Amino acid sequence: MTTAAPITLPPLPYADNALEPVISAHTMSFHYGKHHRAYVDNLNKLIAGTELAAASLEEIVRASAGKADRVGIFNNAAQVWNHTFYWKSMRPNGGGEPPAVLKQKMDAAFGGVDACKKELANAAVTQFGSGWAWLVLDGANLKVVKTGNAETPVTQGLKPLLTVDVWEHAYYLDYQNKRADYVAAVLDKLANWEFAAANMA
Ligand code: MN
Repeated sequence: MTTAAPITLPPLPYADNALEPVISAHTMSFHYGKHHRAYVDNLNKLIAGTELAAASLEEIVRASAGKADRVGIFNNAAQVWNHTFYWKSMRPNGGGEPPAVLKQKMDAAFGGVDACKKELANAAVTQFGSGWAWLVLDGANLKVVKTGNAETPVTQGLKPLLTVDVWEHAYYLDYQNKRADYVAAVLDKLANWEFAAANMA
């Protein structure tokens, strides 16, 4: 906690049209350009002049989780963290076969890659209202969990490997109410299993 630099909006790891046709540049312009940016801007306003003003993003998330007087800070900080992680969870020409180190974990925990994807899709589709579906490590074990609104496995003793945003703003422009179609397309065509595998280390 040595610098007082504001929290910044990280650049997208690819061009805003790179995930087409699964996720359009139009969706990206709102989701990254408006929503993600607004969480960053709101967070900086909320922490200005407080003891969290010089903290890192992850420190802010941890210091505000479950604190009744820091709900606004937590919501915005966790959403900044979750979205940055979400962009990295996808890549152009993603999907396919996960790296062996991750595939072995999927086999052990779910009985295969397809079964793991089915579990992730089920979590994503059954999250009631806004939230996130996650592939995580719980100790040495691979698990699928879902979180509501801004909640994040970061504060739950879990190590996130990959996430899918299921807030309506993530898919409504491209898929309207068909969340299941969005989730299936993301997992089949965009999932960045190399990123997930790297997060296991
Ligand atoms: Mn979102």
